[in-house]
Amino acid sequence: MRDVCPHNRPINRAPTLKLQYLTMRAVNFCAHPKMTDKYAVIGNPINHSKSPLIHKMFAGQTGQDISYEAILAPLDGFAATIERLRNEGYKGCNVTVPFKFEAFQLATQLTPHALVAQAVNTLKFDGDTILGDNTDGTGLARDIQFHLRITLNNKRVLLIGAGGAANGVSLPLMHAGAKLTIVNRNVDKAQVLAIRTSNKAQELATSQTSVQTQISGCGYDELFGKQFDVVINATSAGLTDSELPLPATLFASGALAYDMMYGRVTPFMKFAREHGAAVVSDGLGMLVEQAAESFFIWRGVRPETAPVIEALRKFQ
Ligand code: NDP
Repeated sequence: MRDVCPHNRPINRAPTLKLQYLTMRAVNFCAHPKMTDKYAVIGNPINHSKSPLIHKMFAGQTGQDISYEAILAPLDGFAATIERLRNEGYKGCNVTVPFKFEAFQLATQLTPHALVAQAVNTLKFDGDTILGDNTDGTGLARDIQFHLRITLNNKRVLLIGAGGAANGVSLPLMHAGAKLTIVNRNVDKAQVLAIRTSNKAQELATSQTSVQTQISGCGYDELFGKQFDVVINATSAGLTDSELPLPATLFASGALAYDMMYGRVTPFMKFAREHGAAVVSDGLGMLVEQAAESFFIWRGVRPETAPVIEALRKFQ
């Protein structure tokens, strides 16, 4: 049985005041020497990962005493790798392809974002508890709203794809007020994701927090004649330079076209430029923002992301 809590915060089993007092006294009394807290990103493959560089920049900027390394786990050895890290005193890790679904299974406590995504990219180790979160959606929404300065509230948003990345961003997009359409080659996956996201959004809504509940899933043929203010490519089609079957009239006046891929101009980005999108962006800002959210979950400190994005753009 795993614990879940609203508003994407884990249930906090706060110790009693007396226990807190005794713990504080114990810490003061023992006066342990200061230890560097260890973190990592786990994937297979992993040597392409920019996460160690990003977290090194975050740590330098905020003065947090942490180490962060990339770890290649065998395809059948994710759980064993996590067990080893916990035994060695690591405080948490990021999880990337292909282990995000296994990380979801392994977590003993899940946030709503992780529950809708059914995939986890951030683990925090705390005694016997393994907290699982998915920070991709928060990262995407922050990049669009904070860096690109485009509001999502009441916007017609098209999310293309229904794989791991799309699953991670649907609930945060709704929480940002987007009127969401999910389109996918496999239409069933789009519809299942739309229903799961809607159910979770309604479950989390309270009398104080109204939430956008306009969401649907469809196939590409249903896009003809429709226009969107924000179009997000969450497919992996760019990896193979494949074009998506999108209508030429898809982009509303002033529309944003956002591709979650980074490091290259994809056919989707070219298509958007040629067919009237006013702003075209890759997913580098999302990468840095999802990392910043993980850093915040672990350290309780929010790093400045703009200088990190700027530095990474120079390396590209
Ligand atoms: P998945 O393999 O889980 O899902 C792939 C999705 O792409 C599916 O919806 C699939 O459709 C669709 N797809 C693949 N090829 C085509 C095609 N030729 N035409 C139409 N649809 C296609 O991948 P992820 O969701 O994990 O990753 C998707 C992308 O997001 C990747 O490029 C990844 O790099 C990027 N990403 C970026 C992040 C960032 O921080 N910037 C974070 C996470 C991901 P179907 O279901 O029909 O097969």
